[in-house]
Amino acid sequence: MNRRQFLGTASAAAALPASANPVDKPALLGGTPMKLTGTRQWPVFDQTEEQAMIGVLRSGKWYRGSGQMVRKFEEQYAALTGAKHCLAVANGTSALLASISALGIDAGDEVIMPPYTFVATLNVILEKHALPIFCDTDRASFQMDAKKLESKITDRTKLIMPVHMGGASVDLDSILATGKKHNVPVLEDACQAHLGEWRNRKVGTYGVAGCFSFQASKNLNSGEGGAVLFNDEAFMEATRAFHSNQANSQSLNLRITEFQAALLMAQMTRLETQSKTREQNAAYLTKMLNEVQGIAPAKLYPGCTRNAWHLYMFRYDKQHFANMPREKFLKALAAEGVPASGGYNPLNKQPLLKRIFATRGYRRIFSDAELKRWEERNHCPENDKLCEEAVWLTQPTLLGPRSDMEVIAGAIRKIQRHAASL
Ligand SMILES: *Cc1c(COP(=O)(O)O)cnc(C)c1O
Repeated sequence: MNRRQFLGTASAAAALPASANPVDKPALLGGTPMKLTGTRQWPVFDQTEEQAMIGVLRSGKWYRGSGQMVRKFEEQYAALTGAKHCLAVANGTSALLASISALGIDAGDEVIMPPYTFVATLNVILEKHALPIFCDTDRASFQMDAKKLESKITDRTKLIMPVHMGGASVDLDSILATGKKHNVPVLEDACQAHLGEWRNRKVGTYGVAGCFSFQASKNLNSGEGGAVLFNDEAFMEATRAFHSNQANSQSLNLRITEFQAALLMAQMTRLETQSKTREQNAAYLTKMLNEVQGIAPAKLYPGCTRNAWHLYMFRYDKQHFANMPREKFLKALAAEGVPASGGYNPLNKQPLLKRIFATRGYRRIFSDAELKRWEERNHCPENDKLCEEAVWLTQPTLLGPRSDMEVIAGAIRKIQRHAASL
């Protein structure tokens, strides 16, 4: 079915009472589901990956100290991103931990981060017994609000850690300028933003370092894996030292294996093509969703010249859906064969934080008054609202055929037409 036929079917069906037409009736009420035709298969692989893995296996060189795969991957990833240096590590969390360790982030320091991110961004700060300071979200973009950053800086602020959420860039110009003005380094959490760009340069190459994840869900995948990009060689060497146990400085073992690196190089041969497909599908979907009242796709900042599209994120306004709660909307979408989720909960409100602040370590470092004041300093009202409105599609959905985007938009319009009866 082409787009015109599809739209024709949808509007003809709309003229009939829902009960009479199983195609127009929401699947949640027993109608025919819309169903994506793409397989949403992830990961994607063939003999290229098989040969890469068997090659490492048979070589017997499974450790980066004995083989060449990790070193080669680091060269390739640096070349791909335009970074001067790359250090591959065990996973994205290790990339963040090694970087903040090399930066000397320590107990009692304050680190500014967004409340809208994966918990790993927070976990590495807590691991250091540092204090996470949450900078509210710009609801329109789903990104950390750069305009609110400066008010969060104190003389204890040692790091700003923005996250390129969903694969789109934060407002790097403003964030880097604020960091520079106050002499605070900026570390980019680019774990969702492979090949993402700000002003035609890859994200992850702007800050003091940029961290990436190659965990199974990510756009570049080796099951687990991570990397840090650097422009400064001395800082790269400090991070490298931390990531591989040694006796003369604080360190851990956060090393990646030769298997992961070989798999990554094979997967990298697909990355550009997959990214283009996601971009084309996302642009088409945005065009259709912009015309649906009550659906607001995440806005991109003008400087974001390329979105990695790890997630397709939009806001759902129930007022345009007969006040149907978001959970019901997600259920109705799932019934149509379109899997979607509500995304993150507010990280600044996680009970985990209270439990960690109550530990011996934190109480030795921070006074009761300070921890009490933390709560007042960390309200993020815009983010609270966003967490109630957000809807995510994950990246494999954007790898399907173009017609799948019509299915998604069609399913949303169908749900809207019948919102009152759902
Ligand atoms: C995935 C992710 C991480 C952590 O990466 P792992 O490889 O799972 O350790 C960190 N930050 C963000 C924003 C992520 O999406």
